[in-house]
Amino acid sequence: MVPLSTPHAHTTWVDGRNTAREMIEAAIGKGFQSIGFSEHGVQDFDPDYCLNREKELAYQEEIKKLRDEYRDRIRVRLGVERDAMGTCRREEYEYAIGSMHYFRDGAYFFAVDSSPEDVANGVRRLFDGDATAMVKAYYASFARFLTDFRPDIIGHFDLPTKFNEKHRLFDENAPAYRDAAFACLDAAKESGGLLEINTGAIARGWRSKPYPSLRILKRWKELGGSVSLASDCHSAEKLDAGYDIALEAARAAGFRSIMALGCGRTLFEEYGIE
Ligand SMILES: [Zn+2]
Ligand SMILES: [Zn+2]
Repeated sequence: MVPLSTPHAHTTWVDGRNTAREMIEAAIGKGFQSIGFSEHGVQDFDPDYCLNREKELAYQEEIKKLRDEYRDRIRVRLGVERDAMGTCRREEYEYAIGSMHYFRDGAYFFAVDSSPEDVANGVRRLFDGDATAMVKAYYASFARFLTDFRPDIIGHFDLPTKFNEKHRLFDENAPAYRDAAFACLDAAKESGGLLEINTGAIARGWRSKPYPSLRILKRWKELGGSVSLASDCHSAEKLDAGYDIALEAARAAGFRSIMALGCGRTLFEEYGIE
């Protein structure tokens, strides 16, 4: 049986709607074997969407306390989602998700997952309105970050496609897009991380399919990579939102197993999905 688990969960420490304890209780209620928290790590800008150092220490302390308290009921892990421009210390966590959200120019920045309007404005401002130039720059920067940082999990790989179903910004079938994404995928493979099949945008109603696209997942399989399901949930009721669709995508891409946070000493364990 495929175990229920997510290594990617957010709480009221930053932009989630539920506390860590509420998330754990809900996870137990849903039959999860494990849950990993991955709050947005410290960075020196956009303070509403990240921990500051003081909060970070309190977050770490709380998750460690809950990890002990719930030891007999569910395996709790302390993780972090570190942005490509983040500065948090990886060694303070059991694992790190490496994600890229932002483009920055001086004091101006935009996140590719904030809103269709913000992204369109950012593309006008930093890329002369050329969305393909934006995604090429995205994958080039993401590749550099993955090569340097070598995260345990590669977060929402094709995040710039978030609004494409409803507000098409660029053509995902264009060779220029595919080449940029595949080159970054090579760097991702080289980094040694797991690729998450992230259902966060399904839960929020932006997409019908998880990140990454089936084409990218198939390529990842060809490269010999491994995948993990991740709900990137910001509320307790969304802990396993879209997991049926994510498993279908994994199988369609040819995967016969997934990696999930285990219950023993090993951080990630392999589970068959056939
Ligand atoms: Zn993220
Ligand atoms: Zn996240």
